[in-house]
Amino acid sequence: MTSSLSLEKYSFGVGDRFAHQAKPQLRACMLAAAQGVDVIPVWNKSHREHAIVGSTPPGVRAAAEAAVRDLDWTRPFHIDADHIRLDTVDPFIETSDFYTLDVADAIGQPAEREALQAFVGRHSELVGSLEIPGIAEPFTTTCSDIEKIAAKYLNAVQEAGVLYRHIESAKGAGKFITEVSMDETDQPQTPAELLVILAAIADEKIPAQTIAPKFTGRFNKGVDYVGDVEQFEKEFNEDLAVIAHAVNEYELPKNLKLSVHSGSDKFSIYAPIRRALARTGAGIHVKTAGTNWLEEVIGLAEGQGDGLKMAKEIYGKALADIEALCAPYATVIDIDYDRLPAIAEVGNWSAEQFVAALRHDQACKQYNPNLRQLLHVGYKVAAKMGDRYLEMLNACEPSVARNVTENLYERHLKPLFIG
Ligand SMILES: [Zn+2]
Repeated sequence: MTSSLSLEKYSFGVGDRFAHQAKPQLRACMLAAAQGVDVIPVWNKSHREHAIVGSTPPGVRAAAEAAVRDLDWTRPFHIDADHIRLDTVDPFIETSDFYTLDVADAIGQPAEREALQAFVGRHSELVGSLEIPGIAEPFTTTCSDIEKIAAKYLNAVQEAGVLYRHIESAKGAGKFITEVSMDETDQPQTPAELLVILAAIADEKIPAQTIAPKFTGRFNKGVDYVGDVEQFEKEFNEDLAVIAHAVNEYELPKNLKLSVHSGSDKFSIYAPIRRALARTGAGIHVKTAGTNWLEEVIGLAEGQGDGLKMAKEIYGKALADIEALCAPYATVIDIDYDRLPAIAEVGNWSAEQFVAALRHDQACKQYNPNLRQLLHVGYKVAAKMGDRYLEMLNACEPSVARNVTENLYERHLKPLFIG
C-alpha cells in the first residue's frame, strides 16, 4: 500500500459555496508555506450545499485545479465529498479523492446481537484497566461498558464499512482518502467511546485517515466555540492519546488524525489545539463551515455602491425568510431574534457599519453574532440571485479576495499553525 494516497499532517477544509474563491483561499496556504508551515487545502462541499446552491461536484475540482494552476501550487490538494452517504455518494465518485463518510444517523441504532457479541469477544483488550500513554487516569471498563458503547456505535461503523467498500469498488483501494464523521449527532463522544469506535473501524478494514468525533461544547456555524474550554482541551488531548494508542494497537493508517468540523471561527480553542499538536507532534484536519461565503458578503459591502446595496438586500431577504433558512441548521446556530437589526436600520448603514457587524472581530463593539449567523445560513438567498450575485462577486473581486485570504490566514491558519 506504499502508493496509497496519503493525507498530509496539517490540512484545512476550505469550503467555497459559489466556487469563486479557490485562488484567494490558496493564497492563504501560500502565506503559511512562506512561514515554513505546510497546510494542505482540501476543498469540501456536501450534497446539501450542492443541492442548495444548484452546483455539481465536478465544479469544485475545476475551480481548485484552475487556482492551483494559476498560482503554481506544487504541494498536494484534495477534493472532499463532504458528509456523503450511500444515497448521495455516486455523483462524487468521478472528481473527489477524499470522502467524508457520514454515519451519524446510524448512531444508536441497535447492532445485531451476534455482531455485538463477536465484537466484544474479539476485543477483550478493551476490558479492564487500560493505561493509555498521555491519559493520566487509566480507563477502567467492564465487559458491559464495552458492550453498551459497541451497541451504540457498531451499526454506524458497519454502515461506514459498506459505504467505504462502495467507493473502493468504484475507485480502487488506496486511490482516495477516507474520513469517518460522527459529528452531526447530539451527544459528544468520550475518549473511551472513540477507542471502541476506532477498534470497530479497524475491524471493518476502513483505512480511515481522519476521524471527526463530536467534541464537547457547541460548534455553532460561523461563531466562536461555546463551552468549557478547559474541558475541551482535556478531551482533545485524550482523543489524541486514544488515536495514537489505537494506531499502535489496531491496523489503522499511521497518519490517522482528528478532524474538527465547523472548525472555522472557533478562536478560543485554537491555542489549546496548537499546544496539543506541538506537544504530541500529531496532525490535524480542520474543516471550515462555509464561512468563506461571509467574506464574500463583507467584500461586497466594502466594494461600496452596488456591492453594499446587494449585501443589504441579502440581509433583508434572509431576515424575511428567517424561519425557512434556519430550519436545516437549527441544532448548529443560536440566533437571538431580538438582537437582529431591522431591515430599515441596516438600510441606513455605511459600508463600515455593515462590515463591523458582520466581520468576526470579537474586539469590535459593533460585531453582531446574531446577524452573522443569520447571514451564514442565508447563502440560499445569494444562490437564488444566480448570475446577478456571481457578477457582483466579480465586480467586487479585489475586496472579496482580500477578505477571503486575510480571514483564512490571519484568523485561522496563523493562530492554529504558526502562532
Ligand atoms: Zn461535519
